[in-house]
Amino acid sequence: MEYRRLGNAGVKVSALSLGSWVTYGSQVDVAAAADMMAAAYDRGVNFFDNAENYAAGRSEEIMGAALKRLGWRRASYLVSTKFYWGLADGPNEKNTLNRKYLMQAIDGSLARLGLDYVDLVYCHRPDPDTPMEETVWAMSDIVASGRALYWGTSEWSAEQIRQAWEIADRRNLRKPQMEQPQYSLLFRDKVEKEFGRLYGDIGLGLTTWSPLASGVLSGKYANGIPDGSRLALPGYGWLKERYPEPVLRAAAALGPIARELGGTPAQLAIAWCARNPNVSTVITGASRPAQLEENLGALELVPKLTGEVMAIIDEAMAPAAAAMRD
Ligand code: NDP
Repeated sequence: MEYRRLGNAGVKVSALSLGSWVTYGSQVDVAAAADMMAAAYDRGVNFFDNAENYAAGRSEEIMGAALKRLGWRRASYLVSTKFYWGLADGPNEKNTLNRKYLMQAIDGSLARLGLDYVDLVYCHRPDPDTPMEETVWAMSDIVASGRALYWGTSEWSAEQIRQAWEIADRRNLRKPQMEQPQYSLLFRDKVEKEFGRLYGDIGLGLTTWSPLASGVLSGKYANGIPDGSRLALPGYGWLKERYPEPVLRAAAALGPIARELGGTPAQLAIAWCARNPNVSTVITGASRPAQLEENLGALELVPKLTGEVMAIIDEAMAPAAAAMRD
């Protein structure tokens, strides 16, 4: 496994990490979570991603129970959580980054995870209703209190991240250290264009999500939606709409290139993300052990992604990218 600094922070994360969205709570129970986390950890994965709202808190409970079962040294791994959507309906408890919500949310997550602290805590989305200064101050206080070690953002704009960083800088508060954006062959502009100057200017680290675009880039949807796959899950119709049929078919273009390089399309799609030096870690997802095993082999393809191969991939994926824009 390769380890990379989280932007300009000293802490290092494995280039591939494992997340729990969709899977924990609906497809993966405590035993399966513990098995897959153990398989990942044995291969050097040291970061496990979670969020308060995944399966309405159940995902944190499952990861917490799995961690208890696994009994790893706390210094040997990192766990994250994220706040914004909340778990209750009150006016101060959902779709917000106000101080009151954040202060209670961190305690709730720590209780569900059974941990004294999380390593990374994120503002899961921007909140236009709460003054940025209030959110920055609250996140900085969470870090200062020892309940999290680093704070960051997810799906914020470059301008919002810079604004938060500048407030923290001016007030001598803990600065946002990392952003968690979607990044894959189908969603690349934020990471490759919009954030361009932040890497050097503020030392931003990236923990990127959905490297397979929810499994689409594995090519398994090219001939229809298999039973038991994510796009067939009840309640995920909105996700299915995001990837219309022409995209599903066009994504299969990765197959021949991957085979030529001695890998699978899923490995190639993940390797493509990891090849970007601004990416600290690619957060992968798996609903079963065989997927995890396959995905963890992705780093072997990274050295094979020469300029020439990257150009071939761009050309092959152009129809899928165009179908996404339509
Ligand atoms: P992917 O795009 O890699 O999708 C993972 C899913 O694809 C799996 O659950 C599985 O679904 C399928 N899959 C995985 N490997 C294979 C394979 N080798 N062959 C075929 N199918 C495969 O990542 P996720 O969308 O799960 O995102 C990863 C993590 O990122 C999440 O767990 C979460 O921690 C984080 N995230 C953060 C977000 C944010 O807003 N900050 C948003 C979304 C995710 P199945 O078998 O069910 O088809």
